[in-house]
Amino acid sequence: MKYVLSDFDGTLTNENMIGPEFLQVLSLLQEKKIKIVIVTGRSLSWAHFLLTHYPIHAVIAEGGGVIVFEDLNLRVFSSDEDLTKLDDLSEELLNNFPEISLSADSFGRLCDRAIELSLLEELNLLDEVKKFLKGKCHFSYSNVHLNFWLGDISKQRASLDFCQMNDVLPKDTIYFGDAPNDQGMFREFPESVGVSNISTYLDQLKFRPKYILEGKDKEGAKGVLYFLRNSSKV
Ligand SMILES: [Mg+2]
Repeated sequence: MKYVLSDFDGTLTNENMIGPEFLQVLSLLQEKKIKIVIVTGRSLSWAHFLLTHYPIHAVIAEGGGVIVFEDLNLRVFSSDEDLTKLDDLSEELLNNFPEISLSADSFGRLCDRAIELSLLEELNLLDEVKKFLKGKCHFSYSNVHLNFWLGDISKQRASLDFCQMNDVLPKDTIYFGDAPNDQGMFREFPESVGVSNISTYLDQLKFRPKYILEGKDKEGAKGVLYFLRNSSKV
């Protein structure tokens, strides 16, 4: 096992916080000389923060729109044309729904835009917004955001590219996730793990992780730490 690939929100966090288990995961992997790549819907600015503050090998951010390497070089998967269209679409969306706003981290986003799910649920606009976006762009949601983008961008496409660049086969990695936006990874990466909070979404998943953790004590980063400590795969 050379690499651990992992989603961030809900998978390496607990109750939306970076807790002690996250740091324990990072030190355990350092001890075992296994590199960690975070594969997240979070923005480019988040990738920069994570890479400059923690021992992380690379961050695949914005749902696969961009890979940020340890030396902070980027590989961007969106075309310039798609980025211009995305700006126009965001404007149209906000004109149609004046009561919503883009997520606070959208200013640090390059390839996609996000809206806080809590805001859409509060305003009871989730279905309406999804209806508006349908056919105009791609969208997906994590446990915190509704993300939308244009072009062929996905966590799995960027992750497969990353593996190829580093001469690693998907079967020689482990992927951890917790939500519907991890399904493509569960499909492409045979050794995948769902932390126990994935239970909320299990009925909606077309592709499930190979291992599904159970119990409150195996939610988020606690589950990742448990698996890394106890699995013969690591
Ligand atoms: Mg997540």
